[in-house]
Amino acid sequence: IILLVSSCVLIYLIYNTLKYDIVTSDRSVVLVTGAAGLVGSHLCEELLKRNYIVYGLDNLSTGQIRNINWLNSLRDFYFVNRDVTDKWEDGFTRLDEIYHMASPASPKAYFKDPIGTYRANTIGTESMIELAGRHSARLLFASSSEVYGDPLTHPQTEIYWGNVNPYGPRACYDESKRMGETLCFIAQQLYGTEIRIARIFNTFGPRMHPEDGRVISNFIMNGIKGDDIFIYGDGMKTRSFMYISDLVDGLIRLMASNNSSPINLGNPYEEHNVLKVAKIIQELLAERGIARTRINYIQALQDDPTKRKPDISKAEELLDWRPTVSFEDGLRKTIDYFIELYK
Ligand code: NAD
Repeated sequence: IILLVSSCVLIYLIYNTLKYDIVTSDRSVVLVTGAAGLVGSHLCEELLKRNYIVYGLDNLSTGQIRNINWLNSLRDFYFVNRDVTDKWEDGFTRLDEIYHMASPASPKAYFKDPIGTYRANTIGTESMIELAGRHSARLLFASSSEVYGDPLTHPQTEIYWGNVNPYGPRACYDESKRMGETLCFIAQQLYGTEIRIARIFNTFGPRMHPEDGRVISNFIMNGIKGDDIFIYGDGMKTRSFMYISDLVDGLIRLMASNNSSPINLGNPYEEHNVLKVAKIIQELLAERGIARTRINYIQALQDDPTKRKPDISKAEELLDWRPTVSFEDGLRKTIDYFIELYK
């Protein structure tokens, strides 16, 4: 038994030493906050494929450990279980890039935790700016199309300043994303921090939280559980839907680019009203043998934008980026993920 225990300890020590050796090697080291969420987990996966050493930070507030458990077994991935707003004596010997993705992202999540939401995007961003400064790392901030509020122009270009209610239930998210952008701007001006700002539009895909209340996960879960589909309002509000792999590609291109001003990442080719989304999902679920459920309408959410569609000319020109995955292809993958999870 003693021999067995000592061999295990020895193997563990050698394994950790080897891990440490990688960190001190020439390979780029990246920190992804919000790593256990939809965007963070796919980003970590892609960065690992591209030979980065990846640290994934998350407090698991809205993220799911199953999204990164399997990454944890990989040699170049390190999970950091902490809150992005906490003071951090980090031990990095090298840090090249930071993707700051940590924030509650669905209305249901930020209505539940407005303080955690504004803190993640303001204090959390400040903390990541300091970390970037200590290591001369480049920082990418996950902003949102919500900075445009209920837009008065359509589609939205980056020069549109938005139409945001600062005193309402969504303000903790919308205004803190705006403030996060401001903090990045200040850091760039005062300290020369290399910053990148992605204004992300609706994104979906496997690993979404089934209970996060966003349209796609809601409708799919309603169908799988045999519940009625509930639409807020009359179903005529539109959203533009981007599949997760397109967003990850855009984020990595943006990080590598020389562009430090805000840039839209969204899918302008797939703008649909919510009723149409419900019907397409019903159709795709039916193809998989799941019976149609009834569509019901409930009161619209306060300050919910009427339409949203990105103008992506800037990303096309500066990043040579455009979405390539169709709404239906993305939905098929997402539905199969949820069915697999709940079968
Ligand atoms: P998500 O909820 O799936 O992931 C967010 C992750 O951040 C979760 O794992 C959560 O546990 C973590 N987190 C939250 N607060 C934290 C804190 N204080 N400290 C550490 N971890 C914390 O959301 P997502 O869809 O992956 O969104 C990622 C980022 O992209 C967010 O900043 C969001 O605002 C932004 N964004 C997403 C969309 C979208 O449609 N998915 C659209 C616009 C902007």
